[in-house]
Amino acid sequence: MSKLCLVLGDQLSLDMSSIQSIDKQKDRILMAEVKQEATYVKHHKKKIAFIFSAMRHFAQQLDANGYQVDYIKYDDAENAGSLLEQVKKACRQHDISEVTVAQPGEYRLLEDIKQWEEELNIPVKITPDNRFMAEQSFFHDWAEGRKQLRMEYFYREMRKKHNYLMESGQPTGGKWNYDNQNREKAPKNLDIPSPTVFERDDITNEVIALVKDSFSEHFGDLDDFHYAVTRKQALVVLEEFIEHRLPKFGQYQDAMIEGEPWMYHSHVSFYINTGLLSPQECMDAAEQAYASGQAPLNSVEGFIRQILGWREYVRGFYWYLMPDYKEKNYLSASRALPDLYWGAETKMNCLKQCVKETKENAYAHHIQRLMVLGNFALLAGLDPDQVNEWYLIVYADAYEWVELPNVSGMILFTDGGLLASKPYAASGAYINKMSDYCRNCEYSVKEKTGHQACPFNYLYWDFLIRHQDVLGKNPRMGMIYNTLKKMDETKVSHMQQDAEAFFEKLANNEKV
Ligand SMILES: Cc1cc2nc3c(=O)[nH]c(=O)nc-3n(C[C@H](O)[C@H](O)[C@H](O)COP(=O)(O)OP(=O)(O)OC[C@H]3O[C@@H](n4cnc5c(N)ncnc54)[C@H](O)[C@@H]3O)c2cc1C
Ligand code: SF4
Repeated sequence: MSKLCLVLGDQLSLDMSSIQSIDKQKDRILMAEVKQEATYVKHHKKKIAFIFSAMRHFAQQLDANGYQVDYIKYDDAENAGSLLEQVKKACRQHDISEVTVAQPGEYRLLEDIKQWEEELNIPVKITPDNRFMAEQSFFHDWAEGRKQLRMEYFYREMRKKHNYLMESGQPTGGKWNYDNQNREKAPKNLDIPSPTVFERDDITNEVIALVKDSFSEHFGDLDDFHYAVTRKQALVVLEEFIEHRLPKFGQYQDAMIEGEPWMYHSHVSFYINTGLLSPQECMDAAEQAYASGQAPLNSVEGFIRQILGWREYVRGFYWYLMPDYKEKNYLSASRALPDLYWGAETKMNCLKQCVKETKENAYAHHIQRLMVLGNFALLAGLDPDQVNEWYLIVYADAYEWVELPNVSGMILFTDGGLLASKPYAASGAYINKMSDYCRNCEYSVKEKTGHQACPFNYLYWDFLIRHQDVLGKNPRMGMIYNTLKKMDETKVSHMQQDAEAFFEKLANNEKV
């Protein structure tokens, strides 16, 4: 009798608690590319190619490390189509007495696995996902009794607990957060390093052919697939980031340039979220770069805050608040997601560029996701379920534990202020300040009303007016509502009319 360890597609680390709990000599590992997981939403083609290729490479690594692995490919004749059916088959085949699996990243799958014991008639042990630095109980204790769950305070606790950028109990440099130094617009002619590119090997080529064949109706391009698919390659991405991008990461963290999807960001989310890199090694490398004078504090603190703060925070937040969190819709948003999110033509250059890059790369950096694509979804009152599904589909780093709090909490304000103290709503002026998109746009960012006016301008004020009853009570919105109060009534009425006409066009599927 032996144990069966199920390794999911985003659990590709030898240090995984489930893998650590088995005996190489007598237990078995199962990995399977199943239809149920690959199609419950229609993931971007590049996301599927990346995950399948990384899984196949990881199976080889397991094998080289002496584990006995059964790997079921998507197009294998014996593929049973779901994880449970595949586990049942393996149990029959190998005389299994216990199944072990590390906690999955989605509530849906965890609830499903919890039912397996009954189906299989043997114990199913769910081990904690030990790749995170904050245990769920730590987040729970921190969050319990708080009305608002601000990331900043959680982050300070994590800094102290894990001793990142701390000196004698105080934050390095005297401040916890250097975000105010991380908002520069990018000047012209920046020499941005190219992303790390890897040659595709036979495994990746085989996977790409499979995705072309079996997922042809999914969104996204497959051309120029260059991502890391092994831990060794992912370490090179990290190394190149630390050397070439980290020094300017902080300074241009919020900047957007047309045709520069990668900017000075790290591009490590694909790899941390699948287990190819650990969050600790990413932060250790950044802290080391600060210690040796290779990178300034605003960059290093900014990077560590994203990982030790935001990443750990949204994960704790997700498990603390699910399943109710998914149902929230504080602003009663219900408009259908317009086709422009799937690449339909639009005159709005910022949206056009961000969707184009998302389609090409299954990647967009944070400010594109937040202040262009997300800001539009918020201002236009798009349906949270549809927006969440879109984000889960299109980004190669998207798993529900990280996608949902970012989309529902950060961009759509569906929780009424639990995650963010106020909505991240902005007019065209913000996009113009932080990018060069407006230069090539058919609309004019300077105009507030009329057919040439940037839609973000009138949609912004229309949004504030629509939700004045609830947002007007928010102390952090006081100043902006005072400005609205003083605004010329005719101008306000024109903006509302423009917004109405814009929404009508959206409803009629006309180009906006
Ligand atoms: C609407 C929206 C949806 C998002 N969906 C996802 C998602 O599905 N998966 C995902 O990993 N990130 C998501 N993010 C967070 C962030 O945009 C991505 O982590 C980042 O763009 C990935 O690129 P990078 O590795 O170059 O990140 P960098 O900018 O270099 O940041 C470094 C790392 O910090 C972490 N990080 C930064 N911000 C966040 C955050 N808000 N939440 C969690 N981790 C963070 C990531 O691990 C990232 O790799 C979302 C953000 C928004 C606003
Ligand atoms: S003018 Fe408005 S719509 Fe056009 S790129 Fe600028 S912000 Fe976007």
